[in-house]
Amino acid sequence: MNLPETDTSLFKRLRFVLVETSHPGNIGAAARAIKTMGFKELVLVRPRFADALQQPEAIAFASGAQDVLDHARIVNTMEEALAGCDFVAAISARLREFSPPLFGPRAISEKLSQSKHLNAAFVFGSERYGLPNEVVMNCHALINIPANPDYSSLNLAQAIQLLAYECRMAEVENVPVASNIGFQGQLAQVEQIDGMYQHLEQALVAIDFLDPHNPRKLMQRLKRMFSRTQLEVEEVNILRGIAKKILDVQKK
Ligand code: SAH
Repeated sequence: MNLPETDTSLFKRLRFVLVETSHPGNIGAAARAIKTMGFKELVLVRPRFADALQQPEAIAFASGAQDVLDHARIVNTMEEALAGCDFVAAISARLREFSPPLFGPRAISEKLSQSKHLNAAFVFGSERYGLPNEVVMNCHALINIPANPDYSSLNLAQAIQLLAYECRMAEVENVPVASNIGFQGQLAQVEQIDGMYQHLEQALVAIDFLDPHNPRKLMQRLKRMFSRTQLEVEEVNILRGIAKKILDVQKK
């Protein structure tokens, strides 16, 4: 699905900021997570390794998202990381006594998608220590992924993936559902389906499967079954072909 990226699209308004990340592999995986969901902007605040973006693990985990790594910025301060942003959300596994308003991933994604004027940042903490309180307190929102209370700490890149996915779902319209992925033919019209039912009924009577004097809701049940399937013209024609063949054979 190709999405038109308008100037106000969230894909251009959302920045992913990673604070004091230790593992270059996680930075690469973060780049991939961001790119697969249509986002681009990655900023690293004081990563453990100054050359994290060039480390083999980062490159390997980024896979086809090397362009996101190439354009990622490394900065020393939160101020530099957040320059130009007017809405900043801290993403944290820990709830705190003093914190900005709490949102779930879906709610924040919908808010950001709808607030077309906001330039936003998601700030993620380090693998070992998470986010410092001072950083959280300076944010406008705290996002917690409501995970298993007995073990709620996701891998950094997986937390990023989840947030990026929710933002994508909030932003795109007509997300394909399983029923219309792949080939889809022309849907049959009501009168075509009615004609097919009549034809099928005649055939079922002809082979004594349906007793017209004691129909026992057979046609209602078949109709209910077919009504769940979104019949296409070609499928209706196949069913009519089967009914016709049954009637031809019976006549002989
Ligand atoms: N040990 C750290 C967790 C680090 S996980 C701690 O106790 O905070 C690395 C980062 O992934 C976190 O800082 C956060 O940004 C994100 N993360 C992991 N699990 C999360 C969850 N359940 N909800 C929100 N963010 C989460």
